[in-house]
Amino acid sequence: MALVAIVGRPNVGKSTLFNRLTNTRQAIVSDVAGTTRDRQYGKCEWCGSEFSLVDTGGWVVNSDDIFEDAIRRQVIVATEEADLVLFVVDIKNGVTDWDEDVAMILRRTKLPVVLVANKADNNVDNYYAAEFYSLGLGEPQTVSAATGSGTGDLLDLVVEKL
Ligand code: GDP
Ligand code: MG
Repeated sequence: MALVAIVGRPNVGKSTLFNRLTNTRQAIVSDVAGTTRDRQYGKCEWCGSEFSLVDTGGWVVNSDDIFEDAIRRQVIVATEEADLVLFVVDIKNGVTDWDEDVAMILRRTKLPVVLVANKADNNVDNYYAAEFYSLGLGEPQTVSAATGSGTGDLLDLVVEKL
């Protein structure tokens, strides 16, 4: 079964999206950055297609050095085992240096990458999506993992690219 990995910096809503797409509460959602320690696997079914989903936690954000290692590890694990990567960013925060670091690593891989602009809870938030084109990973897919808005279109795209 195809494997889709969710990557991104802490607190962008990776675990919330994982839970939304798997219809579970398997992954721990927290305001505290670095809460998801281990990788969490689940299954997602969409329009007759089925794939596995992994919430790549593994962030330990105590110092920049450890963070750098954590980025590399998370993205390396994702690119080694996944067939597609969901790169989650926070639309309410805009593009951060950390997003740019992750984007740079992902642009070098041959895997299909879908850029997910999460926390697009309303039309005002959606307005800021265009900023994320600068990451060089194509069109940002706006979703709200919290409300489920946009996740159907996201799943259509994932299934199409797998
Ligand atoms: P992770 O560290 O990337 O796994 O992020 P979490 O899933 O733990 O979420 C971090 C915080 O963002 C939590 O307080 C969530 O409730 C919040 N959050 C996640 N998705 C959304 C969303 O779509 N909209 C808003 N407003 N908050 C969200
Ligand atoms: Mg998490």
